[in-house]
Amino acid sequence: MGFERLEFSISQINMNGNCFIQTGRTLVIGICLFISTQYVAAQEIDLLLKGGHVIDPKNKISAKMDIAIHKGIIQKVASNISEKGAKKVVDVSRMLVSPGLIDIHTHVFTGPNAGFGHGSSSVMSDDFTFRAGITTVVDAGTSGYKTFPLFKEQIIDRSRTRVLAYLNVFAPGMVGTAAEQEDMQALKIEEADQTIKKYSDNIVGVKIGHYSGKDWKPFDAAAALAHANGRPLFVECHITEFSLEDQLNHMKSGDIITHAYENVSERMPVVDENGMVRPFVLDA
Ligand SMILES: [Zn+2]
Repeated sequence: MGFERLEFSISQINMNGNCFIQTGRTLVIGICLFISTQYVAAQEIDLLLKGGHVIDPKNKISAKMDIAIHKGIIQKVASNISEKGAKKVVDVSRMLVSPGLIDIHTHVFTGPNAGFGHGSSSVMSDDFTFRAGITTVVDAGTSGYKTFPLFKEQIIDRSRTRVLAYLNVFAPGMVGTAAEQEDMQALKIEEADQTIKKYSDNIVGVKIGHYSGKDWKPFDAAAALAHANGRPLFVECHITEFSLEDQLNHMKSGDIITHAYENVSERMPVVDENGMVRPFVLDA
């Protein structure tokens, strides 16, 4: 099924904090599907979305459906819900309707510095998420334990987008490879661990991404820190001295490697020159 570009426009509507409806020049309608099977009388519907193609993998739905919403909660999803008494009815018959999408690799720690960490290379999550059907982003290690409290106060707590984070194993976060690694000899794993535990609702993993040393200590420390907290290790592609195969050998099931198919100079992609997945990648 292809996405359609539409001229149709209604304003954004906040629902339940992280949920939203966004139409206008968008490709997807994102919406949180808290589906209740309870019967909803027509007069209890604040908003009725008519005729959209609902794609909801968790509930195994891919079909034309109506959605009834009341007090910000999705009350009913059915093939035909009466418009009678609904306070507002929106025809979404040319649109896809899905749970809010999650972007698992972003850098949203904006600020006055150069670069990503509290810097101008990061982007404001709310500026790109809702129009693309995204309701949750995961920031990929733009902050470390030293900067996470600032990131939380300035970005996480102030964004309408739900912002989760992989904590950078390097204390200052993404402040450029050289500066990041100044702390390499004194990895403060204990402090990072305390930060993960203190902000366990926000931090969903540990990231290592920019590292040019030959010592496996930070990589293995990041993995151990993640796994001890029941979270994945998130590995970006800027680790120049370790081969892809060796990196995978230091990771375990559930961990994440980024830029997997991209031909970056610092690490080979997971596929070979013929586009076939390399055998050692399949083994991992
Ligand atoms: Zn990244």
